[in-house]
Amino acid sequence: MDYYDQHMHTYFSFDSEEEFENYLKLSNKFVVTTEHLDFHNPITHFQNNYPDYSAYSKKIEELNQQYSNRLLKGIEVGYTQADSKSIKEHLSSQEYDIVLLSVHQNGQYDFMEDAVLEHSLEETMEEYFQLMLKAIEDFSQANVLAHFEYGLRRYNVSVEDLKKVEPLLKKIFKKAIENDLAFELNGKSMFKYNNGHLYEYGIDLYKSLGGKYFTVGSDAHVAQDYEHHFKEIFEVLKQHGIKQLTVYQKGKPILVKRP
Ligand SMILES: [Zn+2]
Ligand SMILES: [Zn+2]
Repeated sequence: MDYYDQHMHTYFSFDSEEEFENYLKLSNKFVVTTEHLDFHNPITHFQNNYPDYSAYSKKIEELNQQYSNRLLKGIEVGYTQADSKSIKEHLSSQEYDIVLLSVHQNGQYDFMEDAVLEHSLEETMEEYFQLMLKAIEDFSQANVLAHFEYGLRRYNVSVEDLKKVEPLLKKIFKKAIENDLAFELNGKSMFKYNNGHLYEYGIDLYKSLGGKYFTVGSDAHVAQDYEHHFKEIFEVLKQHGIKQLTVYQKGKPILVKRP
């Protein structure tokens, strides 16, 4: 099986209007969308945003008839501790091929909002990674740790900066590895937000602790971004000695050759 993009959004996400067909047209491989679940989302005035599961499943079933079963189901869970119980209840009757785990917010603001800049990088790193640790400890049904540097995107962060929280990062990655979570290389983070250096550090740290699962995701919200920069990302993985990537189907990891 060829590796395929495992992080993208359609109109089932609050911040995308893209249609499945526009992704399907771009390849003959599996297509999986990972729609946003963000409860009390600061970006939408603290609304609960999540895909309409029955409409999503129905649409995928229809498309699978037309596109020879190439569609899979996914979700990107924006975890908060306050919503932990409702997230789990909400998901308990739903089935996904892949579940991404993200920390987007702290209950007051999304880490991409201006409000984050009222805090120093050191404060935000400590807060954000503590939230991530709790998320991983609590939400064991996730498959992938998505965009691990999301909370730091509004700052200019060097590897030296990140090393200041290395003990905390090690805790996070150890727990992630214990729970079989893959480390995601997020194309948007690496190229739009220029945090590729943080991922190079992250790959090595994750690997040094015994991590074997890696995914690559474009985080496309429009079809033009499908598999954007994948060539460069595969090259980075090659340079760091990663020969295999992981795809998830029915929640089970499948190792495939890095292209
Ligand atoms: Zn995200
Ligand atoms: Zn996303």
